[in-house]
Amino acid sequence: MHVATLYSLLPSVDRILNWPATTALMAEHGRQATTSAVRDLLEEIRQGVADSPPDSSALSETALTERLTRMLAERGASRLRAVFNLTGTVLHTNLGRATLPEEAIAALVEAARNPCALEFDLASGRRGDRDDIVDALLQELTGAEAATVVNNNAAAVFLLLNSLALRKEVLVSRGELVEIGGAFRVPDIMSRAGAKLREVGTTNRTHLRDFEDAIGPRTALLMKVHTSNYAIQGFTKVVPEAELSALAHRHDRPFVVDLGSGTLVNLERFGLPHEPTPQESLAAGADLVTFSGDKLLGGPQAGILVGRADLIRRIKKNPLKRALRVGKLTLAALEAVLRLYRDPDRLGERLSTLSWLIRTESDIRVQALRLLPEIERALAAWPVTVSAEPTLSQIGSGALPVDRLPSYALIITPTNTRGHGLNRLEAALRDLPRPLIGRIAEGALRLDLRCLPVDQEPQFVRQLATLTER
Ligand SMILES: *Cc1c(COP(=O)(O)O)cnc(C)c1O
Repeated sequence: MHVATLYSLLPSVDRILNWPATTALMAEHGRQATTSAVRDLLEEIRQGVADSPPDSSALSETALTERLTRMLAERGASRLRAVFNLTGTVLHTNLGRATLPEEAIAALVEAARNPCALEFDLASGRRGDRDDIVDALLQELTGAEAATVVNNNAAAVFLLLNSLALRKEVLVSRGELVEIGGAFRVPDIMSRAGAKLREVGTTNRTHLRDFEDAIGPRTALLMKVHTSNYAIQGFTKVVPEAELSALAHRHDRPFVVDLGSGTLVNLERFGLPHEPTPQESLAAGADLVTFSGDKLLGGPQAGILVGRADLIRRIKKNPLKRALRVGKLTLAALEAVLRLYRDPDRLGERLSTLSWLIRTESDIRVQALRLLPEIERALAAWPVTVSAEPTLSQIGSGALPVDRLPSYALIITPTNTRGHGLNRLEAALRDLPRPLIGRIAEGALRLDLRCLPVDQEPQFVRQLATLTER
């Protein structure tokens, strides 16, 4: 068909808006959203006509309203979709890290729905301090004199440096100039915060005397950064925190630790590898410790600073604190999570992040074998085979980088040698109402079931049944 003829067949915006199907769409999505979708659809068609002229059936009322319906559904859908995390990484930064325990979810819903005493001292009726909501709990749990909370751990480190080391030097071991997920690099944060990084020692070995030789009149702080997403092995030497803090204190300088993933319990009691805690750093003499709220702690995104009361006071006086502070939803969830730590005996059942981490291989294996026939049935039309096999999960978010947790996965292997179907299947799984995120490795799609809640299995299976080979 001639392009000009096609153009003349296109209905006007007004005509489309008067079709019964469009009126129904307008009732659901509103006049404004529907009108702009109609305009965009017509524009899309005009653009497409020149490249590949459609036949006139593509311009029928039925065809156009179908496209409109899909367009509006897509635009109306939330971008922050809940997904199934079957990547094998429990604290996956791109999938939002920690999932919150029910206690924290309830607390944040309550704080969202109602006015709350965020900065209001109910005893005196005067203005309060939002940090007071978690200050006492953090003191109790870490043994610190004082605490404050900001948006995330990167903000905590930034604020600390800007408050205590502006235009002065901060000594850090060369082995600890870490980059976390690209956007957080110790040297960059340091210079943006207005502090001058002074590298000490070498990549693999740093001695106490390296720090001692570097201390001068311009030194503001000695800093230790937890090498959370890598391990230096072989001929290595790190200065223990106790020695660094003693040295700092002999020279009347604070010693601060960026712990990254902070947990407030010894994970060994849950059969997990040891991860350093703020308590240990403080006991070793650290004056300030910073850590994340949504890594191993298992709470909302936040950056927590604990330590000496006089230093925390200086940090809170910095006007940047106001720019980096957290909102009531974060504080509500964080307070609820911290409260759980008061009873470590029940933490394994109550803290969801921890419950994923301590799930046993045999438990996950039972789930994998239960789901295997259902998955095989759902994928019968695809050129793949499915098996259940042992795998290794990781903790993620830079915690315990070299340790792996024995787990079980459904392994989907293409039957044709070129493996074309695999990428299509992976995309189809990502396109489900609740997207299913796995990992392609060694020529197979691997679905690690560690983080699949048993009570969500029916939803998982039901939506798989809707998968059609495309
Ligand atoms: C993760 C991490 C950070 C950044 O923390 P966010 O909460 O992601 O801002 C900083 N330092 C270390 C050592 C970390 O592991």
